[in-house]
Amino acid sequence: MDEKRRNFLKITGACVLGVSLLPALKVSAAKKVTEEKGPTYKAHPKALHGKRWAMVVDVKRCQEQNKKGECRKCIEACHSLHNVPTIPNEKEIKWIWKDNFEHSFPGTAHEYVPEDFHEGPFILLCNHCSNPACVRVCPTKATFQRADGIVMMDHHRCIGCRYCMAGCPFGARSFNWRDPKLYLTQLNYDYPIRRRGVVEKCTFCDERLGEGLLPACVEACPAKALIFGDLDDPSSEVRRILSKRLSLRRKLEVGTQPNVYYLV
Ligand code: SF4
Ligand code: SF4
Repeated sequence: MDEKRRNFLKITGACVLGVSLLPALKVSAAKKVTEEKGPTYKAHPKALHGKRWAMVVDVKRCQEQNKKGECRKCIEACHSLHNVPTIPNEKEIKWIWKDNFEHSFPGTAHEYVPEDFHEGPFILLCNHCSNPACVRVCPTKATFQRADGIVMMDHHRCIGCRYCMAGCPFGARSFNWRDPKLYLTQLNYDYPIRRRGVVEKCTFCDERLGEGLLPACVEACPAKALIFGDLDDPSSEVRRILSKRLSLRRKLEVGTQPNVYYLV
């Protein structure tokens, strides 16, 4: 065989091989693209959708319920559902808690608010601020804000630097100095347990909203003192109440724009 013919056969052979491999390559490339897209997520048909979730706390109702005996139903419901450990003293982990007037509204409420408003206690939780300082300072994006305003935590991304704790002016975040598992008497196997060295906080029960349920604290309150809804929906209960009653938000002067309101 002469040189020219040998080269010709080499080229045509490579072309034939190339042509026959093409569909296979196309299939594997298409498969790769599909794999890279990952599994598709189908939302629960009853999932609650909002543009700006908010909580309204009817302080009077809360106080009345509290006078009947120390009411902790909202705290217990939240903490048992989310595997929040009970650790005494300064290592405490809290998603929702009670505090007095001075700690809840330092410098925000004027001295002429109704006297009984001062009595407290006040139910406190993460404010899911519209301008969250915690999100701005987190170097790993472990804390981030969803389109509906909920400020979330990705515990796998959290490196435990606690910048978000320093950034939050409301003390709404807790750090797991210890292994939380050791301080849980009851376990909810449907909710993840955090590990030592990460920060955690309230998520407005994002997992329940996704199933069409209201936050656990709202559902558990016997006095219906907690009202949850979408601020961007003019027909929502939160909008109706806020347009009729006077309300306060915590530490407005720091500019985070909290989305938890306290009816005076
Ligand atoms: S209350 Fe604190 S933790 Fe919650 S969103 Fe606002 S700044 Fe972040
Ligand atoms: S909204 Fe959910 S996570 Fe937040 S305090 Fe209430 S029960 Fe806890």
